[in-house]
Parts: sequence; C-alpha cells; structure tokens
Amino acid sequence: MVDLRPLLELQKVDTALSQLVHRKANLDERKVLAAEKATLVSTESEKLKVSNELKSAKSEIATLETANQKCEAQILKYSQQLRTVIAPREAEALQHEIETVRIERSLNDDRELLLLETSDKLEVQLQQLGEKIRTQSIAVASATAALNEALKICDGETKSLDDKRLALANAIDVKLIKLYDVKRTKRATPAVADLHGSKCQSCHLDLSVVELSALKKLGSDELAECPNCDCYLVL
Ligand SMILES: [Zn+2]
Repeated sequence: MVDLRPLLELQKVDTALSQLVHRKANLDERKVLAAEKATLVSTESEKLKVSNELKSAKSEIATLETANQKCEAQILKYSQQLRTVIAPREAEALQHEIETVRIERSLNDDRELLLLETSDKLEVQLQQLGEKIRTQSIAVASATAALNEALKICDGETKSLDDKRLALANAIDVKLIKLYDVKRTKRATPAVADLHGSKCQSCHLDLSVVELSALKKLGSDELAECPNCDCYLVL
C-alpha cells in the first residue's frame, strides 16, 4: 500500500494550524480587552450623564439669577413709587406687590442654594469619573498591547507551521495531496491517522483483526482507509 506517513505529518501540521485559529479567536487577552473596554464605555456614559446634569443645573442657576435681578429691579421700582404715593390704598397695593416679589426672590434663592449644592457634588463626581476614565484608559491600552503581543505569538507560530507545511507538501505527490484535500473538506476529524494498537486515531474505534489483515493485504498503489470513519490510515 501507499506510504501515507508524509501525509500524516501534513495532517498533524493542519491540525495544529486549525487549533491555532481557534486559539487566536478565543484568546483570554481578547476577553480581558472586551471587559476593560466595556468598563470604560460605561464610565464614559456615566460621565456624560453627570456632565449633562451639571449643565442643566448651571443653566437653571443662570435663569434664577436673571429672574432675581428682575425681582430686585421691581422691588426698587415699587419702593420708589411708594415714596411718592399719597393714597393709602395705592400704598398698600404697592407694599403687597413688593411682598409678592420678595417671596418670589426668596424662593428663587432657596432653589439656587439647592442647585449650587447639587452642582458642587456633580463637579466632584465629574472629577472622580475623569480620574476613573484615565485609569481605565490605561487598562484598555495595556490590554490592547497584551492582545497584540498574544496575536503576534500566534502569527509567529502560524508562519512557522505554514513554512513547515509547505516543505512537507512539496515532498508529497500532488495527486495524493488532492485526495487528502478532498477528504479533509468533507470532515471535521483528521483525514489521516495512524493506529494505536488497533484503534484508529481519527475515530478512536478499534479495527477488527479481519479488517486489519485486509488492509495489510492492499496492493502497492492502494490507500488504506479506516473501515469506520473512512480516513486514510498509516499502518
Ligand atoms: Zn477511523
């Protein structure tokens, strides 16, 4: 039968290559980076939320200050009018107006005080979130570097396996390579395997004595195949 040992070597390299593809796709460094990025994104969105809250607090403070300036002007106007009126009813009406505006101003002051406290807290929060983002950005950068390093190692291993594969394939008959490729595309388990004892290393099933002796009797141009899984067998 045809000597399939070189093809088995090729299969081993192909198995290693597909394991490498799987390893590359499932690197721990990839998961770490994804987690670090998610943390950063969540902190950034929290910071945006706090910053919007601060913006709206500040804008409300500005509105209240404008309103209070208007109150002051009204109080001043009514006070001046009060000095010139003689009729007690008019004076009473003006005093009532002044009191109403004073109440409005006082309510505005209370609200502004509350908003100032809130915005102080928000400023502190923003600063803390800024620091958090700086730390988390560093973590993302270092996780990215770690992933790139791991990918570089994988790529190096791929390159050396590719070189090894090329050298092995060059030494094998083209027709045999074609047969191997056809078989390989149709299955997930190895297309070439050897026997450990009477056990096929592709399907891990035992060959019977009869099956084994039939394989041993194959002609010099014939290829041995596992009767169970159909892979090429090295005997
Ligand atoms: Zn088998």
